[in-house]
Amino acid sequence: MIALPDEELLRVWDAARSAPAALRPALLLATLAGEAEASRMPVGARDRGLLELRMQLGGGAFEGIATCPACGTKLELVFSTPPTSDAIPMSPLSIGGLLIEFRLPDSRDLAAIAGEPSIDDARVRLAKLCVVSAMRDGVDVALPPFDDEIVAALSDAMSRSDPDGDLCVNVSCPDCAHAWDVLFDPATYVLSELDASAIAAMREVDALASAYGWSEQQILSIPRSRRAIYLGMVLG
Ligand SMILES: [Zn+2]
Repeated sequence: MIALPDEELLRVWDAARSAPAALRPALLLATLAGEAEASRMPVGARDRGLLELRMQLGGGAFEGIATCPACGTKLELVFSTPPTSDAIPMSPLSIGGLLIEFRLPDSRDLAAIAGEPSIDDARVRLAKLCVVSAMRDGVDVALPPFDDEIVAALSDAMSRSDPDGDLCVNVSCPDCAHAWDVLFDPATYVLSELDASAIAAMREVDALASAYGWSEQQILSIPRSRRAIYLGMVLG
């Protein structure tokens, strides 16, 4: 869970909900970790930052649910910080006689492609956004048509240089011993926890406001230990 004072928790939650979905993870980093340029961080680096933030605010234990693809058993997962990968240093992509220089996608790029009608359209748009220049035989040339081969090669090169956008947790089924990797997205995880923590705080406000007529501000200013006792009295 995200351990923040309740007023701050709800303020951050409000701000996150009013931001475009693709920018919410960066907003958390900017607000809670002081990363002013978080929306310009490569997505994998941003997600590593979110993991560190989560460890500071909620510890290093993560929980989740998975379904075994072999036998269908539902598993409750508890895992420590997923291992991050070593990034391969960026170098221009060489393809078809072209040397293409590119940068890594960031949260603003993801926001820009959010309205694309299909995943293929989004991948092409992302490639166009991130290509900086193209050269042939040492001479700058116009950007090439973004055919499937170039888009796929760029996508691979970006993933190698910013690998932590796709973290995996290795899981083994206790019923059938099948082992597989579950994708772990730090941004989705941390935003879900923020949501759950904020809604839990609002439930407390709702219960105490209904019982005593206190305002949200009054309720949130009561120390949690005393609030828990009032809640126990109200909820029986
Ligand atoms: Zn199984």
